Parts: sequence; structure tokens; C-alpha cells
Amino acid sequence: MNYDVIIIGAGPGGIYSAYELKEKRPDLKVAVFDAGMELEKRKCPIDGDRIKTCIGCKSCSIMSGFGGAGAFSDGKYNITNDFGGTLFEHIGKTKAIELMEYVDHINMKNGGEGTKLYSTAGTQLKKICMQNKLKLLDASVRHLGTDINYVVLQNLYAFLKDTVDFFFMTAVTKIEAGEDGFKIFTADDVYTCKKCVVSVGRSGSKWMESVCEDLNIPAKSNRVDIGVRVELPSVIFSHLTDELYESKIVYRTEKFEDNVRTFCMNPHGIVVNENTNGIITVNGHSYESKDKQTDNTNFALLVAKHFSEPFKDSNGYGESIARLSNMLGGGVIVQRFGDLVRGRRSNEKRIAEGMVTPTLNATPGDLSLVLPKRILDGIMEMIYALDKIAPGTANDDTLLYGVEVKFYNMEVSVDENLETEYKGLYIIGDGSGVTHSLSHASASGVYVARRIAEDK
Ligand SMILES: Cc1cc2nc3c(=O)[nH]c(=O)nc-3n(C[C@H](O)[C@H](O)[C@H](O)COP(=O)(O)OP(=O)(O)OC[C@H]3O[C@@H](n4cnc5c(N)ncnc54)[C@H](O)[C@@H]3O)c2cc1C
Repeated sequence: MNYDVIIIGAGPGGIYSAYELKEKRPDLKVAVFDAGMELEKRKCPIDGDRIKTCIGCKSCSIMSGFGGAGAFSDGKYNITNDFGGTLFEHIGKTKAIELMEYVDHINMKNGGEGTKLYSTAGTQLKKICMQNKLKLLDASVRHLGTDINYVVLQNLYAFLKDTVDFFFMTAVTKIEAGEDGFKIFTADDVYTCKKCVVSVGRSGSKWMESVCEDLNIPAKSNRVDIGVRVELPSVIFSHLTDELYESKIVYRTEKFEDNVRTFCMNPHGIVVNENTNGIITVNGHSYESKDKQTDNTNFALLVAKHFSEPFKDSNGYGESIARLSNMLGGGVIVQRFGDLVRGRRSNEKRIAEGMVTPTLNATPGDLSLVLPKRILDGIMEMIYALDKIAPGTANDDTLLYGVEVKFYNMEVSVDENLETEYKGLYIIGDGSGVTHSLSHASASGVYVARRIAEDK
């Protein structure tokens, strides 16, 4: 029941913390608690046939368990300070990149070797984007793919399981700070530790807020990103995806001067449902293995909204929009771009006759009844802008799935060690609001493990 270090959350943040602690300080007694299941037992029951929508499992296999939200992700590790989080604001740009590269090295040692590292360095596409009022952000991206990402996680678990105590299906309910450490409460037991690393990701956002309230740790509201997932024939984007795999492109709209950006590009991928606290939104991923690839490419187009005064609840705003789409469509809505432009809802017949075969079984509908005009106008403007660098993007048959919402956690007040005002209590990964990607969350895990190993 007594540990040197307790890690809460077995997502990338928690896993790489445990990994680095075992590498640097094998003498420390470490435990990891996760509200979800071990990797092999994680299985979302939605099969698109017998079970079409979320049935609210006790633990959501997509978001929770060993591997966290990243377990069935596309496994795109973006090595960059340009997006994916603001870790560099705490630890510096050079250190952040160095740690992301270190994480890449661990992934390569654990099953990722042979996967491709793409880079924007020296690409001509940057100029072409610029000539069309689009900005291509700098990054290197390692694409593991959902399949290899899973193998890496299996290998990391095999490395850790004999020396780290894992407690699955064990949500931590409360943290109590004491004189020389912390008490960690679960439904049935109480554990103690000298140092505690909290890495509870998006799914732990509400609980994280309660921890901050209990312990009086300052936290401030973050932004929410709202938009759609675009699906089109992969050939339309192949000149970009073949060279860069994922291109993060930003467009400033003429009408409102809002920024619209591409996010999570999946060449030859599939569109999937995502469940955040019972709300169904859309996401996408793709496989490295050729036999699981499709003829489509998908990516999100997102607009960021940040509320401060008098309304502060940016996530609540995003949730309401997602709930509206769930109310109208029973889940995710799909619409042809041509139907959206003509102001009519899509129906099964028009989608079936189109050039793009949907990879997600969504309800044909009208996204203009769901998304605020300002956001929808921005998305449409961006589709026409992308059409200039990838002709065919604005085809009538291009599919738009809605809504895609990226929720961000409250930004918790942590210092340059990612430590709270309680000595020995570290808050990392997406749960801290500092990161929102695999590479940044993992790097934050390595970083605190090294601080703990050096006893700083
Ligand atoms: C479908 C999908 C695809 C994605 N694709 C990509 C991608 O290609 N590239 C990319 O960079 N990012 C991607 N992401 C985002 C990425 O997965 C996250 O940024 C990353 O997983 C964050 O890691 P984390 O460790 O901070 O949190 P998480 O991965 O969310 O892990 C948190 C863990 O904490 C556990 N937990 C929560 N509360 C408690 C509690 N009270 N007690 C115990 N355990 C708790 C949860 O069960 C969970 O397992 C994707 C996300 C999704 C959902």
C-alpha cells in the first residue's frame, strides 16, 4: 500500500513516466492506477451493425485503460513546438524537442522500427500554401499507425508489468496532501506515496477539476475547437500526404478573420465515433498495414473558441453543440459538401450515388442546423482555399461529418518542473491542459520522471 511514486492514469503521460522511472531509478517502488482496463481487454462494442451507437460502458475502451486515449489512435507522434501543446512554455523549446525525440527513440526500440518519419523541412509545398493564403506549420511526424502503435504499447507493458504494480479498473477518487507525501483514495482502499504524478487526460478532466478545487490549486479555462471531419478520395490529397503524411495548415478567413486549421490527417484512413462523457463526436485514424487501408483520406477542419467573461465554460459551449448534433442525428451527422452549399440536407440516396464511400455509418443530415454560422462560414471558406492547393477538395461529393470537437482541460497552475505548489505533486499530459498530443504528453511524462529520479 506504500509506494515511492504513484502515477494516476496509464495513458502516454503515465506510461512514459513509469518507463523513465524504471530506466533511471529501478530502486523506486512505483504503482500505476487506471480507471480503464488493460490493453488486451479494451474493446469498443460499437460494430456498426448490431451495436451502432454508444451504450455507455462502465469504462470507455476508446478513452480509458492502458495506452489511454492514444491506444487506438493513429499513432501520429508530431515532433514540434508549433502545435500539440505548450510544454515548451514550461521546460523550454530545446528540451521539449529533445524529449519528443527521446520518446520517438523508445517507440523505435519497442516495435516502431521501420515506420516512416515525415518532415516539412525543405518542402516546396510551403510556398504553394503561402501563395494561396494558407500557412503550413513546421513539424516532423512519425506515423506508427493504429496497428504498430498497439504493438509498441504491448511491448511497453511487457517491459513494465513485472516491476511496476498496475491497478486497472481502479479510479482514484481523491488525493490528500500530508506532511511527507500523499494519500491516494480509491473506492475500496487507501494508498500512500512520497510523490504523485497525475496524468488523467481528457477523460479525467472533471475529476481533475475536483482535485484542483479540493487542494486549492489554481486552474484557468482553456479553449475548445469546433468543426467537422472532411472525407474525400485519397488521390486528392496524395501530393501532400505522400510527402508530409500529415499537413497542419492554417487559413485566416476573409469574412471574420478567424483561424481555421486542418487537424489529424489520416491518409487512406477511416472516420470513427468518439465518446467524451457520453457525447458522440467524430474522429479519424489510419493503419500502417496496407490491407487495412481505404481509398479515402480524412482530416478535421477546426475553429478555436475561447470564452472568458462573463461566460467561461468553453467546453460547455462545445458540448452543447455536440449534443445538438446527437439530438438531430442520434450520433454523428454526415453531409455532402454540395448539399451544404445548396442549403439542403443529405440523404442516403445522394450519398450512395456520390464518389466518396463513407467509412463511418453516420446519419445523413444538415450541418447548418448544428454549427454556428460563423464557424460554418469559416469551414466553407477554408474548403475553397484548400481546393486551390488540392483541387477536388470542394467537390460536391466531399463528405463532412459533424461535429468534431476538441475539448481541452482546464490549464492547471504548474511550475517549470510541472509540479504544483504541493512539493511532489506533478500534473502532466492532457489532464494538465499543457499538452494535447501523444508526443507532448509522453515527453511531459519523461520530464517529471527525470525530476523525480534526480529528486528535484
Ligand atoms: C481517437 C483518437 C485519436 C487520436 N489520435 C492522435 C494522434 O494521432 N496523434 C496525437 O498526437 N494525438 C492523438 N490523439 C490524442 C492523444 O491520444 C492524447 O493527446 C494523449 O493520449 C494524451 O495522453 P495522456 O496520458 O495525457 O492522457 P490519456 O491518454 O487520456 O490517458 C489518461 C488515462 O487516465 C485514466 N484516468 C482518468 N481519470 C482517472 C482517475 N480518476 N483514476 C485513474 N485513472 C484515471 C484514463 O482511464 C486514461 O487511461 C487522439 C485521441 C483520440 C481519442
